[in-house]
Amino acid sequence: MTIAGQIERLIESLGGASICDDCITDRLNLSVRSQANVVTRELGHREEYDRAKVSCGQCGALKTAIQIKA
Ligand SMILES: [Zn+2]
Repeated sequence: MTIAGQIERLIESLGGASICDDCITDRLNLSVRSQANVVTRELGHREEYDRAKVSCGQCGALKTAIQIKA
């Protein structure tokens, strides 16, 4: 599966909880954070996702995180 596919699946599996690029990088063992960033920026333009500066549902830090709309 592509990295983009893995990221989509991870976000979906959280069922509406937000996740930041750093947590995505950790969870999927990506080598660099920019791999996650490229994908989440793209997904953020889609109707089914929300991407905004919020408390990350995983690490609790206030940063740009993405979530699937309920
Ligand atoms: Zn996080």
